[in-house]
Amino acid sequence: LLQLTKKLIEIRSVLLSVDQSDALKLPSIVVIGSQSSGKSSVLEAIVGHEFLPKGNNMVTRRPIELTLIHTSPGAASSSTTPAEYGVFPGLPHLGKVTSFSTIQKTLTDLNLAVPHELAVSDDPIQLQIHSPHVPDLTLIDLPGYIQLSSMDQPDALKENISALCDKYIREPNIILAVCAADVDLANSPALRSSRRVDPLGTRTIGVVTKMDLVPPTVGAEILRGDRYPLHLGYIGVVCKAPPSVGGGVFRSLTGGSSDSTSNVTGAVLRREDEFFGGKNAKVFSAKGRSGEKIMTGTDTLRRRLMDVLETSMAASLHGITNAVQLELEDASYQFKVQYNDRRITSESYVAETVDALKSRFKEYTSQFTRPAVRSKLKTMLDDKVMNILEQLYWNDPRTAELSRLSEDRRLTPEELDAYWKFKLETASSLLTKSGIGRDSTAMVAEGLRQLIDSLATGEPFTWHPEASSRIVDFSHAILRERMGMTADQVENCIKPFKYEVEVDPREWAAGRERAEGKFDEEIGLVEGKLGEIRKRVGGSRRLGGLIRHVGDLEKEEEERRQRRMSRLSRADEAVSEQEEGGDSDGTVLDAYKYSAAQIVDGRNALLLSNRLTLLKLRSQALKSRRCKTGPEQAAFCPEAFLAVVADKLAYTSTMFINIELLEQFFYQFPREIDSRILYDLNRDEIAKFARENPKIKQHLDLQERKDKLEQVMRSLQSLVNLQQESKGAGVGS
Ligand code: GDP
Repeated sequence: LLQLTKKLIEIRSVLLSVDQSDALKLPSIVVIGSQSSGKSSVLEAIVGHEFLPKGNNMVTRRPIELTLIHTSPGAASSSTTPAEYGVFPGLPHLGKVTSFSTIQKTLTDLNLAVPHELAVSDDPIQLQIHSPHVPDLTLIDLPGYIQLSSMDQPDALKENISALCDKYIREPNIILAVCAADVDLANSPALRSSRRVDPLGTRTIGVVTKMDLVPPTVGAEILRGDRYPLHLGYIGVVCKAPPSVGGGVFRSLTGGSSDSTSNVTGAVLRREDEFFGGKNAKVFSAKGRSGEKIMTGTDTLRRRLMDVLETSMAASLHGITNAVQLELEDASYQFKVQYNDRRITSESYVAETVDALKSRFKEYTSQFTRPAVRSKLKTMLDDKVMNILEQLYWNDPRTAELSRLSEDRRLTPEELDAYWKFKLETASSLLTKSGIGRDSTAMVAEGLRQLIDSLATGEPFTWHPEASSRIVDFSHAILRERMGMTADQVENCIKPFKYEVEVDPREWAAGRERAEGKFDEEIGLVEGKLGEIRKRVGGSRRLGGLIRHVGDLEKEEEERRQRRMSRLSRADEAVSEQEEGGDSDGTVLDAYKYSAAQIVDGRNALLLSNRLTLLKLRSQALKSRRCKTGPEQAAFCPEAFLAVVADKLAYTSTMFINIELLEQFFYQFPREIDSRILYDLNRDEIAKFARENPKIKQHLDLQERKDKLEQVMRSLQSLVNLQQESKGAGVGS
């Protein structure tokens, strides 16, 4: 009436999902027996279906925790829920399994997945069967005891199985010891094991199978239980025909159906009626040891199991309530101490993570304001300018001459040699046609890429590699998509500068100043390098000597080269060898004076000091009155002119990069985060995502544990109350 078993079985299922050890504090029926004792047949008769793994090789390798849940027959027909189905809580994707042959196959696969070396595993398989034809019971099927060791079933296996069974037959579990009637009870490993842990037999039920294989009088004698008394008694069953005729009889009784999932209860009951009733009725209606009728039949067995489990559950109620109370107090305390009772959900974690990512992104976008981008582009273009100047002017010995010309006050720009005018045009077009669209876009895109990559690989995305690579992938995709277009746009907009650059006096002044600054910088750099060499060589005097020496060497080399050239043209080889020998003597002598490293330093110093001279000359020119006059003096001051061009290019490029690339990216990226992460994940994926972060997983686990324990505690409390009420009522009446 209290449906105590049913409710406690529900509680047990919840506890199982919290912690295996807690669930085990609620009694369950543990089925043990030796191989081939008929264990599977008994279980299947109780369930009413064939569903357990079959085979010659030992097939039960893991405990099967079978939870039978009685459903009311009406409930199923009124809804879409199937009448009978199995659920594997460990394999949620399977859902409700309505075919018992699928259940059988799943169990077989799960068993066979245990590695051969291990042979048995104590990791249980959970299986629930919902049906209007089953009683509310929890049954644990264990691997059968091995009687004799053989080649493929070594001693270790025998011990492993015993150890596994010992773990389950502990209190408060009820032991269902299965023995075959045709085997002497003295040899039953099931009874031997149960006697070890339950010497008085207070929680052991004996099931004697294969009653049809012994004469009825012998069978009745066994069931009387005089030799090995059990408080809960023995029950005799006939679950299956002998193998020789087995299938046939079974099938004929079930109406010729060959489907293994067909209901077997009817068949067994009819067979048992036939056997225990009829001409044997008298033998089996005898009284047992304690004066009660001896027990026969699967139906009796079911009812007996329900009674025993209910009683045992009722007895455990108090203990389990206390145990859960303690667990709950501990979980609540932990939750308070560790998380200050702050509740989270996977959803809120995902939302927070996405928000944090977006706001960090927003923070970083300040690195990409227009002035910031412009200044980066300017630096890039200034470098280009320096390269062009080096290529066109500093490497040209006539540049010194240009500096002298600029000092001539009477010379007007119009009178300047066409050489210099042409050079300036070349320089300007080298700069404007150097692929600015591509380079500037690539530079900004690279900056964005680095930013996103650093966001996507930083906390907390270290825990979410999949999400991280998603972010990286889609941001790269946006960049790829925008880059070509942006580069073209920029290139298009700077096109006019490729033909003519108009410079007004204000721009000129600013450009000249910038060029001046750049030159000072460059001069400082070269002086620094020279200074380093000077230190290495040991002072200015020694450096001077070294430079002179290297200069001489270079002059010699040049002369030698020239001589060789003319000699080659004369094809006079005999002389060449003589002279060559003479020259190399001198070189050997010099080599003693300076080490190879010093010669290298010397050559570098010579180059640097030549450049320094030129740079200073040009810097002076830039500061000259002529350069300060205005843009019409451009040919005299190419450095100032190019600085102005670079500035204009940077300004225009920035404008279009901003419109075509940055604004688009800043708009698209946060939206992509939403659509690819926030909205693209289903419930399971959100839960998975949250639990990838160990801190969150811990938090969620503890919170869930606490919630479930609270739920269990409420159910237990109401059961305790009901129990007390019914006791009170009992006393009162
Ligand atoms: P398990 O290895 O303990 O699970 O035993 P099974 O249930 O697989 O049964 C072993 C063998 O005994 C099978 O061939 C069954 O057909 C047979 N068997 C089981 N129960 C009975 C029974 O009540 N009577 C007879 N004659 N054979 C049975």
